[in-house]
Amino acid sequence: MRYISTRGQAPALSFEEVVLTGMASDGGLYVPETVPQLSHEDLADMAGCSYAEIAFRVMKPYVGGEIDDETFRDIVRDAYATFSHDAVVPLNQLDANHFLLELFHGPTLAFKDVALQLLGRLLDHFLQKRGERAVIMGATSGDTGSAAIEGCRHCDNLDIFILHPHNRVSEVQRRQMTTVLADNVFNVAIEGNFDDAQAMVKASFADQGFLNGTRLVAVNSINWARIMAQIVYYVASAVALGAPHRKVSFCVPSANFGNVFAGYMAHRMGLPVERFVIATNANDILHRTLADNDFSKQELVATLAPSMDIVVSSNFERLLFEAYQRDGAAVAALLERFQDEPTALAEAPLARLREMLASHSVDDTTILEVIREAHHRTQEILDPHTATGYRAAERQRGDASVPMVTLATAHPAKFAEAVVKAGFPGVPLPPHMDDLLEREERYTVLPAELAAVQRFVAEQRR
Ligand SMILES: *Cc1c(COP(=O)(O)O)cnc(C)c1O
Repeated sequence: MRYISTRGQAPALSFEEVVLTGMASDGGLYVPETVPQLSHEDLADMAGCSYAEIAFRVMKPYVGGEIDDETFRDIVRDAYATFSHDAVVPLNQLDANHFLLELFHGPTLAFKDVALQLLGRLLDHFLQKRGERAVIMGATSGDTGSAAIEGCRHCDNLDIFILHPHNRVSEVQRRQMTTVLADNVFNVAIEGNFDDAQAMVKASFADQGFLNGTRLVAVNSINWARIMAQIVYYVASAVALGAPHRKVSFCVPSANFGNVFAGYMAHRMGLPVERFVIATNANDILHRTLADNDFSKQELVATLAPSMDIVVSSNFERLLFEAYQRDGAAVAALLERFQDEPTALAEAPLARLREMLASHSVDDTTILEVIREAHHRTQEILDPHTATGYRAAERQRGDASVPMVTLATAHPAKFAEAVVKAGFPGVPLPPHMDDLLEREERYTVLPAELAAVQRFVAEQRR
């Protein structure tokens, strides 16, 4: 399998290269050159298979023979053995035809574990094979950092440095990162805000001289392997609900669009899907684009669903590439305009998106109302991100005979602030984490100065 850039200029890469590379050199994102197909029969044969087996079958064509089957099976099995539920991503039936797909049974209680447990292992495999080491750098305001750390803690060939703003992440989120005491894990608390941390990571990628030739790897959601891993749960849940004999719809709490793009890929591979509903919080660029063709940036709003607080949805570019029928030049031109001014999609591509996608935006007041209402109706306490999905699913339901699957992207214990504001006493952490607040922590506080951070990374890496 070859991978090509959404802006049409960068060289095509192999799977191994695409896993080790973040953004394409032309500023685009990598996508597979062709979409592998799952036949009716392939899907029917998955009935009753374990999650790891379905994962192997769905992802194998994307790996394209670059890892032998036995090794890839082991990597997949190990990645999903870290989940605390035997089904890995269980379906929870809420009412007659509305289901929650619980994606939060991984080590850090949010859906990013599904992708990062696999990505860490893939990186380690390829580095081992090449006899190389690599450094991962990332900035986090919460979820991604801990999922990346958990995904890399057992990797022999990787050192991971995660920057978080000192005293500005919740205690649970901080401890999920800082209590991982592996010697390849480095937590850095920056005396500044998230943007300072992010800027230093960006500057380090732009000029990697401080690492003397060691590869610097990004594990943000533009890495193709993260999308690939997420395709699997769309297929697995649809098969559990009767695919290929029956269609399903999905509702996806969205920010950078990686999650819903993976669903779109599952559909393109042959999964029968009625529609995708995109749920956003008050940061509603995706909803504005789909509903009003208003493709423009707006100020960031801090909401009760902080992992969906974004201005730009980086992975939306991958869908635009398909909507513009793989015309990289048109995508590049659109995104250049978008950088500087409010813009709009051309009519035909927008119409193509609207065939499959609906959207709904949910503000903070509504998030609290939904948490109460969903509890009243189903006895479930939803996390605030999942709450946006629950409401969007109901509002954009479409054909009520088609099962609706809302993706539950985080465990409610992780976002206690919203749960308490909604009037509940809070939700306990699951048993394997109930001593989190007593565990030993390790992190280094550094000033928000690029030179200090780079010196630390260069000295500490193994
Ligand atoms: C990252 C995240 C999202 C948004 O997912 P995207 O792939 O960026 O659209 C939603 N909910 C939670 C809990 C997250 O951590």
